[in-house]
Order: sequence, then structure tokens, then C-alpha cells
Amino acid sequence: MVEKPTFETTGEITRFDERDTVFSREALVSGSPEETEYHRLNPDMADVDARLARFIVSKMEGGEDVDQLARAVYESHFIPPAALALPGMVDGTPESSRIEWDREGASARIKEFAYALGAEDVRIGPLRQEWVYSHKGSRPFFREEYVNPPYFSGTPEDYQGKLYGDAIELDHPTAISIAFRQEKEMTATGSTRAVDFEVGRVYALSALVSVQLARFIRALGWRARAHHLRNYLVLCVPVAVDAGIGELARCGYVVSRSLGANFRLATVTTDMPLACDGPVDIGMQDFCSKCMKCATNCPSGAISDGEKIEVRGVRKWKINPEACLLYWGKTGYTCSICQAVCPWTKPKKLLHRGVAAVAVNVPWLRRALVLGDDIVYGAKFRPAHIPEWLRVAGGRTRGSSGR
Ligand code: SF4
Ligand code: SF4
Repeated sequence: MVEKPTFETTGEITRFDERDTVFSREALVSGSPEETEYHRLNPDMADVDARLARFIVSKMEGGEDVDQLARAVYESHFIPPAALALPGMVDGTPESSRIEWDREGASARIKEFAYALGAEDVRIGPLRQEWVYSHKGSRPFFREEYVNPPYFSGTPEDYQGKLYGDAIELDHPTAISIAFRQEKEMTATGSTRAVDFEVGRVYALSALVSVQLARFIRALGWRARAHHLRNYLVLCVPVAVDAGIGELARCGYVVSRSLGANFRLATVTTDMPLACDGPVDIGMQDFCSKCMKCATNCPSGAISDGEKIEVRGVRKWKINPEACLLYWGKTGYTCSICQAVCPWTKPKKLLHRGVAAVAVNVPWLRRALVLGDDIVYGAKFRPAHIPEWLRVAGGRTRGSSGR
């Protein structure tokens, strides 16, 4: 554990508007009031956003050239979490009576609860206001009131971010960062429907677990709000760095000592008194400066192979999210090549734990470890085969047929 996160700050960190994320922009419906207003203020984004939108529209609505099996996977994994995103799911009024535990005991119980539900790593840190979105930007699920007792019972008092463009104020002091492992056999297939499956599976699990954990905490008498794929108020990556899941890496994700880059995050924020973990230094800033594997293997050129630059008060390797998402649109599938090729993404075996310990503790050997990884696993990404049950025989496919 270290006192402060390993990324450098260069001044005031300004809060990020969720409306500016590529995932919010791709979801803008052409001609809607939200789209019209956004592109009136950001006219230079209009063309690229229209191109970004094609990927998600094809996934949601299908069409002549769309892989129907991949769309079925999307339907299975990405639609149900939308129900878990409703106001009464992610948030709510806590029980009036409270169970009080000491901070250490409460943290231990919260972590065990999340592990038992399927989390792979759980860390607790302070919620810094810099990581709270300034405005809500995800697609407007909440135009209508949802009344579907007993669970979808409208909008809880003090609920934040009901509508697109709402200003966000979240005063929970603590964030529980939850990591979920993706199976490398699936994400190492490149940009295929196996990746769609795995990413969707893990996102759906993370949505359910975060909602369950938040409901658990509220039922214990404390405020708690789940933040998952379909409904975030916070940026899960820097929250995870503050909590000690791992370090911010060249690929733009958190890289963890035990999970590598191959995982997804959800967060629960709360006012429950909890003992915090702390940020970690596993040597990623130095390791990534000696390793370019994600950058050299990224098919869209979205990952920087250069130096860090300043982004809203933080010095980091800046990724190009538009290039990444346009590549997904081109192939028709989610891509996870950068997560699969990272030398830290390895099975939980004794040998790999030993190598990770060397990487953390012996800085002068890191360049040799990068080279060794290239020799053993290949410097160039070699796609794994997708499982037979996710192949299409005689059906209509798009992208690389049979894969
Ligand atoms: S997901 Fe694929 S396209 Fe996007 S940054 Fe990673 S390797 Fe590049
Ligand atoms: S692939 Fe290499 S450069 Fe990229 S995040 Fe992993 S360690 Fe860092």
C-alpha cells in the first residue's frame, strides 16, 4: 500500500461530464432533443458520433448485415442489466434501524458478501469528488416513471441522475470497488462474438452483484448506491485505483497484480463507516514505459505508444476511445485484445504469481520480463479459437466467418 495513487496530478482535476463519453454519444438518437443540443454545442463531434452510433444501433435493432447470433448474445447479456439500472434498483431509502459494526469488521463482512456473490477482488477507498460525473449522460432510460411493484417503485427520494443532463451531486464518503474476472480463453479470441459473450456476461454479473451489495447495505441502515454498466454516477477506473485494485496503465484500464487487465469493474458508494484499503504501487508506471504490448497490438491504434500527457489535471497515457469504438463497429464485435495481451493477464498459477512478484519488486528485471513474455506468448497477438457452441454453421455472419 502507498500513500497516494501512482498517477501524477498537474493541477486541479476537473470533473468529467458523462455526456462526453463515447458510450453516451453513441447512444444519442438522431434528431432527439438530447442529440440536437449536444451537437449544437459540439458540432465537430457530429460526424464521428453518427458513425459510433451504428455499432450500438446494429446490436440493439439488428439488420440485414448483422450477425444474428451475436445480437442474441447482446440481447441476453446487455438488456437485463437495464432493469437493474432503474432508480429503485441502484438506490433507495435505507432502513430506519441500523446495525452498527466497527469499521474493520464492517469492511470484512462487506468484502466477504461480495466475494460470495462472485466478485474476484473487492477494495474500499474514499470517494473523491473528482471522480463523480458532473452530469448524467447515459441514454435516458428514465423518461417515464417506472411503477412495477415490488421492486420498480418509482424514484427514491434524493435520487441523482434521473434524466440525461442532470447535474450530479453525490456526497457518499466511501467507495467499494468490485472487480470481476473475464475468462481469457474468451477474451483472447480478438474481436468476436465470444468476446461479446464474455464481456456481456461479466457486466451482467457485475450489475447484479453491485445492486445486491447496495441493497444489503441499505437494509443494514446505511445509504448505498450501485454504479454499474447501465447507470454510473462515478468513474469506476480512478475509484478502483484509489481503493487499491491496481494501477492506471497504458491501456487506459486498471491493471491488477492478480487479475492483469482482464476484468471489469462496478462500484458501490456508501456512507456506511468502513475501513479503507489504500492505493498500491506494483510498478505499473515503469512497467508500461518498458512494455508497449497493448499499443503495438491494438488494431485501431487507440492506445498511445508515446509519453503520458495531461488530461483534465492527470498525467496519463491518453487513449483514443473513438478509434477503439469505431473498430468495434467495423468488426461488429467487442474487442479485448489489449486486455488479453497484457503480460499481467495470466492464470492464477504459482509460476505466474512468482513472475508477478519479480515484476513488482525487481524494477531492473522488468524489461527482461517483457521480452520473456514476447518469447513465451508471442509479441504479436495470436487469436484463440472461439468455442464451437458460439460458431455459426450455415447461418448469416459478419466479420471473420466461422470465428
Ligand atoms: S479494445 Fe481493441 S481496439 Fe479498443 S483499445 Fe483495446 S485493443 Fe484497441
Ligand atoms: S500491455 Fe504492457 S503497456 Fe499495456 S497495460 Fe499491460 S503492461 Fe502496460
